[in-house]
Amino acid sequence: MLPRAFEHLESLYSEMVAIRRDLHMNPELSFQEKRTPAFIANYLKELGLEVKTNVGGNGVVGYLTGGKPGKTIALRADFDALPIEDEKDVPYKSKIPGVSHACGHDIHTGALLGVAKVLSQLKDEIEGNIVFIHQHAEELAPGGAIAMVKDGCLEGVDAVYGAHVEVNYPIGQIAVNDGYVQAASDAFDITIHGKGGHAAEPHWCIDPLVIGSHLVVDLQTIVSRRVDPLQPAVVTVGAFHSGSAHNVIPDKAYLKGTVRTYNKDVRVQIENELNLIAQKTAEKHGATVDVKYSKGYISLYNHPKETAYIKELSIDIVGKDNVVIKPPDMGGEDFAYYVDAVPGSFFWVGGGNPEINAIYPHHHPKFDVDEKSMLLIGKVFISAVLNS
Ligand code: MN
Repeated sequence: MLPRAFEHLESLYSEMVAIRRDLHMNPELSFQEKRTPAFIANYLKELGLEVKTNVGGNGVVGYLTGGKPGKTIALRADFDALPIEDEKDVPYKSKIPGVSHACGHDIHTGALLGVAKVLSQLKDEIEGNIVFIHQHAEELAPGGAIAMVKDGCLEGVDAVYGAHVEVNYPIGQIAVNDGYVQAASDAFDITIHGKGGHAAEPHWCIDPLVIGSHLVVDLQTIVSRRVDPLQPAVVTVGAFHSGSAHNVIPDKAYLKGTVRTYNKDVRVQIENELNLIAQKTAEKHGATVDVKYSKGYISLYNHPKETAYIKELSIDIVGKDNVVIKPPDMGGEDFAYYVDAVPGSFFWVGGGNPEINAIYPHHHPKFDVDEKSMLLIGKVFISAVLNS
């Protein structure tokens, strides 16, 4: 069945390219998607799938019931775009000012719709069921995944798979890795309330700028002195604003930053340490402090068994030399919520190709990828379903 399915997918390539380019020209921002989910829902309905819309917001879920009993496998593609101007010189350039598919979510959608078409025609032969998860709002916390999971998109699902096109890998390569591969990403905003006054009379003031300076340094001790050195963690102060004149002691100081972690306990530990250090540092100098700690996505954990399965299927498709191990990084991806609920794996498919100018990093105004990556994402998805 697999060679037939692959052949069918390849015959759909021009249709997948047309879909991808249509989405590329009409990108929609996270949580504002209307046209895209309507298009997806309509496409899946025409294939004869049972379709649920407005899942956890703007999400769309298609259900394919196979002719024979078996496992239920979910496949996920995200479909939102970014607030970035499209500066490419291509016929399929974004028509929406200031908005573009600069992360390749249009590629994911084109690939998954192609897969849905191939599998819908093999319905009677398929053992088990397939859930097609088309997710809105991957780019903006709290993200669409957590809401779609809460809304039941993983009910009865035995395993879930997702893919990201990756411009740092050349077309033809597939990258996998198990364990923690992407970080939990949190943000903090700290306000130090001091007492302003004349710069020549510091003894009448409580200087929030000096206290803020101590705090920036003290926060560095969380990772270096408090967290287990074998656990990856980042605490970065990205902004520190206070004061505006040579001769004035300001009233307040503002700090902003990000916290990245893999391990759930370390994440809680850092939030607690950060609060404590901010309170104690302010208190020590007679100031008060407000800490706002905003939780972003949880860390992405790829299950070993399901990742080994994707690796094996990928080797069959592109050969051993073209399947590489992707090093973990501290970026975020809300696919994390699906694999937090059921076993599964997220993998990366090369889309880099200097011949077509697909050389710019993700979220760059000139970002583009080789559209043939859709065929490889599609082939891994189809193999994952038909071999389960
Ligand atoms: Mn992305």
